[in-house]
Amino acid sequence: MASIFSKIIAGEIPSYKIYEDDKTYAFLDINPETKGHTLVVPKVEVDKIYELSDDDYFALWASVKKISRHIEDVTGRRVVMKVIGTDVPHAHVHLMPLDESWEYGKTLSLTEDEFKTIAEKLAL
Ligand code: AMP
Repeated sequence: MASIFSKIIAGEIPSYKIYEDDKTYAFLDINPETKGHTLVVPKVEVDKIYELSDDDYFALWASVKKISRHIEDVTGRRVVMKVIGTDVPHAHVHLMPLDESWEYGKTLSLTEDEFKTIAEKLAL
């Protein structure tokens, strides 16, 4: 069965998309630790990052770099990354622009309008 992220990439489940190319897709995490918390996902569905082909692996990290720099430019905040992969068995990298309120693992409740505004601001 397709992962929830494959369904998002296929447009079967909605997402607050901020970036897409032929190998990767990026969208806002629905349980954000900071405003702008983004997930970068390879389009190919593998559970663990180290299962990716070299091509897909490098494409993922190239997108991580591009999107992180863009988020930093837009927000003026340092972007930190984490790779956890305990919940969704589809490889992904978390990007979070840090602000004063950030606490590791503590999530924010945002309205749909707030998500939309953030996604519009961060889209590239
Ligand atoms: P982990 O696998 O531990 O890296 O966590 C998976 C992340 O995916 C969590 O931060 C979830 O909030 C996020 N997530 C799960 N479903 C969705 C979804 N439909 N849209 C956006 N983010 C999601």
